[in-house]
Amino acid sequence: MRSLDRRDFLRGTLAAASWAALPSSLTACAPRTRPTAFHYDDLYLTHDTGEDHPERPARLTAVMDRVSAAEWYPDLHQIPLRAAETSELELVHDPEYVALARTEIEGGARRLSTGDTNVSAESYRVSTHACGAVLEAVDAVMDGRAKNAFCAVRPPGHHATPDRGMGFCVFNAVAVAARYAQVTHGVERVLIVDWDVHHGNGTQDIFYADGSVFYMSTHQSPFYPGTGALEETGEGPGSGLTMNRPFAEGAGDAEVVGAFRNDLLPAALDFAPDLILISAGFDARHGDRLGGFEVTDEGFRELTRIMLEIAHVSGGGRIVSMLEGGYTPEGLASATCAHVEELVRG
Ligand SMILES: [Zn+2]
Repeated sequence: MRSLDRRDFLRGTLAAASWAALPSSLTACAPRTRPTAFHYDDLYLTHDTGEDHPERPARLTAVMDRVSAAEWYPDLHQIPLRAAETSELELVHDPEYVALARTEIEGGARRLSTGDTNVSAESYRVSTHACGAVLEAVDAVMDGRAKNAFCAVRPPGHHATPDRGMGFCVFNAVAVAARYAQVTHGVERVLIVDWDVHHGNGTQDIFYADGSVFYMSTHQSPFYPGTGALEETGEGPGSGLTMNRPFAEGAGDAEVVGAFRNDLLPAALDFAPDLILISAGFDARHGDRLGGFEVTDEGFRELTRIMLEIAHVSGGGRIVSMLEGGYTPEGLASATCAHVEELVRG
């Protein structure tokens, strides 16, 4: 079934049924060996942040030089380019903010008035496509065309709050994808993990009081944007569904992988997600231009394997990962390649 038929089917038939029936029914429809889905397009190179800005096109050029040379690259399911609709952005963003971002960018702004996000003429188009790509990836994984997915997109998204672009981010693609999966595919519980070296304040804000989305972040502290304390654990229906693991500069595999295995793994299995989204920021890698963590490529492989472990127990193996930060192009390319290779093996 393609998405429209599936949407009608899910809304009409499964609305009153047990949500627990959804994952197994989808898995049962899927072929036995499914590829990993992948998305990249040169469009993302046209978001111009200015000379020597760390969030630059060369990041993706380096990633693609490395990934496209991998022996498994030809086997990836390529995800087509598409823009997120305004109504999709508004699943998590205030309509006023979406309109403001568009007006400012189309009016020639070089920086959003809401925060430290540099933009250029193409940035609205690029940002809506970065978001749309993750939605296409959700479709591919939920429809069973792919077992998991990675989107090599920019700008990143996890700092964008409902009403504010900041921290190089315009729209929060991973948050839009979580809501989209719920609305379009009838997914009930979504787990979002964020191993970017910065705390994903936007994602946390959006789901802080939400009982259907579990958000976990490891990040450097004290560091930008200043949120993500251990004590921030959610509120109301979302109580206990935000998990922050801040670590001092210099933390590496022992701390980050340890938090995922010892703290996230049991909590995630208890939460029992139907879908897992990853804010894959590789600025936690050693040698990053901005980050002060020391995570190795093997560390990112292990994080990926832990997520696959969770996904195979709960969620039919379904993982959609998207690039967030990572500001030393060669290191970013190496870590991304390691991450995608584990998704392919998983
Ligand atoms: Zn970051």
